[in-house]
Amino acid sequence: MPAICTVCSKGAILKRPKTGNALCKECFFHAFEEEIHHTIVHAELFKRNETIAIGASGGKDSTVLAYVLKLLNDRHDYGVNLVLLSVDEGITGYRDDSLETVKRNQEQYGLPLKIISYEELYGWTMDAIVKQIGLKNNCTFCGVFRRQALDRGALMLKVDKIATGHNADDIAETVIMNVLRGDIGRLRRCTAITTGTDGALPRCKPFKYTYEKEIVMYAYFKKLDYFSTECIYSPNAYRGFARAYIKDVEKIRPSAIIDIIHSGESLSVKKDIRLPVQGVCERCGYISSNAVCKACVMLEGLNKGLPRLGIGKTHKERRKITT
Ligand code: SF4
Ligand code: ZN
Repeated sequence: MPAICTVCSKGAILKRPKTGNALCKECFFHAFEEEIHHTIVHAELFKRNETIAIGASGGKDSTVLAYVLKLLNDRHDYGVNLVLLSVDEGITGYRDDSLETVKRNQEQYGLPLKIISYEELYGWTMDAIVKQIGLKNNCTFCGVFRRQALDRGALMLKVDKIATGHNADDIAETVIMNVLRGDIGRLRRCTAITTGTDGALPRCKPFKYTYEKEIVMYAYFKKLDYFSTECIYSPNAYRGFARAYIKDVEKIRPSAIIDIIHSGESLSVKKDIRLPVQGVCERCGYISSNAVCKACVMLEGLNKGLPRLGIGKTHKERRKITT
């Protein structure tokens, strides 16, 4: 007997990964979108008249995020201005192609787009960095540079906030990685839905409770245009292990993803815990809790042909650079 949608009793075409409910396409869309709306309202992610930069990579998460935020902004009248912000790391055969997808999304969704590149900000592309340092630690450089590039792009656009496509699986992975590393400080911070409210540009994660499988399903049934190739420099074995682990436990018990996030939340930072004092980097003027920011330390290492300067024992390395 064909399955019946548990909401409207029409024919179901899918089983919802998060709940196991049989649903028709329309009821799945509605459940998916309204859960995100609930997250946005409940966590007070946006205020009327704010401008929100959507960190757009052309991948499934940020493409669905742009589509859903535009839809919810119209449906529920959030009154926010949405813009797309992309970072071009300079990875031939990967980012150049995915940016073509973002450019099409810009037209499809009618949202303005800004692309900011490592090359213009730092004078280095990831292709050049990998040529110099090889395929080890490349993601450490890339992560530090991307974080700052997004913030700088957002400042240029004068936005109030950045929204990223991090989903529930990503956050559960980060919780597991921090548990395995015994990194209690990060463990306490990594489940926050909004970060950077203490001076830096706030960032928020409207997909905090949204399952990756449902994002893929939504993109598929909505026929959204996204780019699905992995980065050619992606080794990240440690995250890969956490990812495989999450997928395994999800198979046995789908609620495990949300439960891991809730475990992390129960340890989250209470308001009275002291956070590092924010200042500005004396080199680039960008927000930093040290005299010289991490991006500048790494950049100096690259420019001096000593890329290891930027990695590892940063206190010692920073002293070497600043004195
Ligand atoms: Fe950058 Fe590594 Fe991600 Fe590739 S996989 S985009 S190198 S962080
Ligand atoms: Zn700096």
